[in-house]
Amino acid sequence: MTEEPRRPLRTCLGCGKKQTKVLLRRLVLDEKNQPLFDRSQAAPGRGAYLCGPGCLQAAVKRKAFHRAFKKDVAVDVPNLEAAFLRQTND
Ligand SMILES: [Zn+2]
Repeated sequence: MTEEPRRPLRTCLGCGKKQTKVLLRRLVLDEKNQPLFDRSQAAPGRGAYLCGPGCLQAAVKRKAFHRAFKKDVAVDVPNLEAAFLRQTND
């Protein structure tokens, strides 16, 4: 295994742990202010990161989405959770 020269750290919205980007899932807002997983991991705009499905609930409780996106965000938890699990199983 080769070391990556640059390893930008991102903070998980749920648990607050700092991890390298590759271990986190990126979320962006759609036009209805719904957080969606950014499959490309490179969509323009402000992003937020989660490290696991459990952290989704924690992030909602902490109102971390609101803070991360600097606006009111309508989080559809069951839908997002399902999307998270689908991605993890890919
Ligand atoms: Zn986390």
